[in-house]
Amino acid sequence: MKVLKFGGTSVGTPQRMKEVSKLITSDGKPKMVVLSAMSGTTNTLVEISDYLYKKNPEGANTIINRLEQKYIRHAQEIYNTEEWREKTIQFLHEEFDYLRSFTKIHFTSFEEKVILAQGEIMSTNMVTNYLLECGVKTVLLPALDIIRTDKNSEPDFNYIKDKSVTALKENPDYEIYITQGFICRNAYGEIDNLLRGGSDYTACLIGAAIQAEEIQIWTDIDGMHNNDPRVVKHTEPVRQLHFEEAAELAYFGAKILHPTCIQPAKFAGVPVRLLNTMDPEAPGTTINNEFQHGKIKAVAAKEDIVCIQIQSSRMLLAHGFLRKVFEIFESYKTSIDMVCTSEVGVSVTIDNVSQLCNITDELKKYGTVTVDTDMVIICVVGDLHSDNVGFETLACQALKEIPVRMISYGGSNHNISFLVHKEDKVRTMQALSDTLFSM
Ligand code: ADP
Ligand code: ASP
Ligand code: MG
Repeated sequence: MKVLKFGGTSVGTPQRMKEVSKLITSDGKPKMVVLSAMSGTTNTLVEISDYLYKKNPEGANTIINRLEQKYIRHAQEIYNTEEWREKTIQFLHEEFDYLRSFTKIHFTSFEEKVILAQGEIMSTNMVTNYLLECGVKTVLLPALDIIRTDKNSEPDFNYIKDKSVTALKENPDYEIYITQGFICRNAYGEIDNLLRGGSDYTACLIGAAIQAEEIQIWTDIDGMHNNDPRVVKHTEPVRQLHFEEAAELAYFGAKILHPTCIQPAKFAGVPVRLLNTMDPEAPGTTINNEFQHGKIKAVAAKEDIVCIQIQSSRMLLAHGFLRKVFEIFESYKTSIDMVCTSEVGVSVTIDNVSQLCNITDELKKYGTVTVDTDMVIICVVGDLHSDNVGFETLACQALKEIPVRMISYGGSNHNISFLVHKEDKVRTMQALSDTLFSM
């Protein structure tokens, strides 16, 4: 069985919902379909939560009412029969009454998670009802019964495997199995989510759990481009990526994929395809276990990076120094992305700054600490084995006009990363594209 995930824009209008329904039923083969919320909905739910945190129920109600009108208009348009239109509109009214109920209670991050979950709950119900109206044998398998995270907020893969395999076994003979992306329960059974963009992660977790034939991520672009098309001119689709290359690109900011979604597919060896709902015939990108020798694939950027430098002529060469430095980060549950060392100092980058003050206070015991904020990691991904001679020269040449704060190369065979200031992000990315991909 294949697992197909459709993102927000792919289910963003009644027309799109109909097109997705046609696409998933065209060959009559059973499929697991993971849906995001309609585009813009999760952002609106975040906005509603912000009003509620700020104890502004009127502000929240105004947005809830506006969103409700939009959903009712969609429901009026999508269904052909009075029966399914009425049924769905009643469901939507209940959903929005539920959202309004949060304006009357004490609001915490627990309630926010529940509010954020409603986007996927609404989109999956709307599409399921449409497929049922069309006579397609469809069942909605609630993600809240299948996807769970553990005490470290990591997906509990054994649980997910058990629940998804059982859900399919207990519901034989359906053509379409629908579930919600993004939403899950945590180790305590509370409603939670897999962070923004998490529907990709759901699809890959389920795909790995049921050992799917393929995981397809359907979005609004023809696969992974060789640079961020929102930032750089003349980007091109990349037709094939190794799992490791895709994982690096996702982790380092290629928005088309959730940062950690490739890991489960990689471990299960299930190929992932990135496809375009607006142009279903386009080839997209295939992610699998193959390496294209000597090929530089793509550039991605991760923003809001902080660089911390610790300088200590006294301590650095003493063995155990780096361990002490890393232990400080570990004790504050802060992971490090880039590391560069020299005889007199070490620089590291982090993206989670919630413990920055505690970390720097402790690091000061070991040397002089300098912090640079508003940095960006620009990462170039491809086959960078040492016999691919000359690649680093080319990448560095591209950046001859740009002040580079750190360079990391050799950590893996697939990645060279540059740390630059935020204001240099666009020209760095463009320069790398112009140099690496214009040949
Ligand atoms: P969805 O809602 O379907 O999950 P996303 O907005 O999360 O879609 O991801 C698709 C978007 O990712 C594209 O429209 C594009 O603007 C952006 N993007 C950023 N970097 C890349 C890249 N390297 N290749 C393709 N798309 C990218
Ligand atoms: N709806 C969620 C979000 O907007 C999850 C997703 O779309 O992948 O982040
Ligand atoms: Mg996405």
